[in-house]
Amino acid sequence: MKITVLKESGFCGGVTRTLLMLNKTIKENEGKQIYLLGPIVHNQLVNDHYKELGVKFIDNIALDDLEDGSIVVVSAHGKSDKELEKLSRFKVVDTTCPYVIKNKQLVKRNEGNNIIFIGKKYHSETRAICGDNSDIFIVENENELKGLSSNSFGIVFNQTTFNINKLEKIQSIIKDQMPYFEIINTICPSSKNLQETLSMKDDKYNTCIIVGDKTSSNSNSLYEMSPYNPTYFISSAKDIDNLKFRRFDNILIVGSASTPKDELTKVKERIKELYKDYL
Ligand code: SF4
Repeated sequence: MKITVLKESGFCGGVTRTLLMLNKTIKENEGKQIYLLGPIVHNQLVNDHYKELGVKFIDNIALDDLEDGSIVVVSAHGKSDKELEKLSRFKVVDTTCPYVIKNKQLVKRNEGNNIIFIGKKYHSETRAICGDNSDIFIVENENELKGLSSNSFGIVFNQTTFNINKLEKIQSIIKDQMPYFEIINTICPSSKNLQETLSMKDDKYNTCIIVGDKTSSNSNSLYEMSPYNPTYFISSAKDIDNLKFRRFDNILIVGSASTPKDELTKVKERIKELYKDYL
């Protein structure tokens, strides 16, 4: 049995930046309550860490009860302008990833045009990017394009962490059915790099473990596109005890952009502990 952690795994630049900003806010405001509007990133382990440090996680409704000037942190996924306006009475620390901001600006610049956005409808990034424009057609899968065609001009963007295989399929249908729509690929570089690396199957491995949160678009994309059979999708090292491996399994461990690297080490160590006779 061989066990390897894919080296491209772990926090992307956007998540690292967001967490650095949050850490700095905590340090500079010792003794003051810090509020997080939703999860800071889509990973329970990371969010639990900040809960333990005293950060309070709140939703939009709870905002009404906060005093003016309270410190409110906006997550890596961002917020729509309408939502950001509602925060004007607070001290806002906006940690939105620059790639999400760029995506949002592209959509804004194209207001008034026909816009298709390929992304998960209820994901916080989609809501942040499309939330100010109800005319955007949000497409999550190929079926939603069945029977649609257009000879008008328009533009197509996508969620930064969307599954690149699914994205290509949806883009190609749009090309056929809506030939005058310009397609701009807005997958972020770290999602692209991680997904492409995983999709280039390495024959040294016959088993893959994706470590990430079920709410993370990034992690789901990796799971959906993994070329390894079997591929397991777990949240933390604790889940290893529920899996069964064989002597000849060579395991590739992959963490998404919001998975802490030390959790990947814990996954590896737990497998080594349980299967020491196979090593
Ligand atoms: S996955 Fe991409 S868009 Fe999301 S936080 Fe990381 S760099 Fe930013």
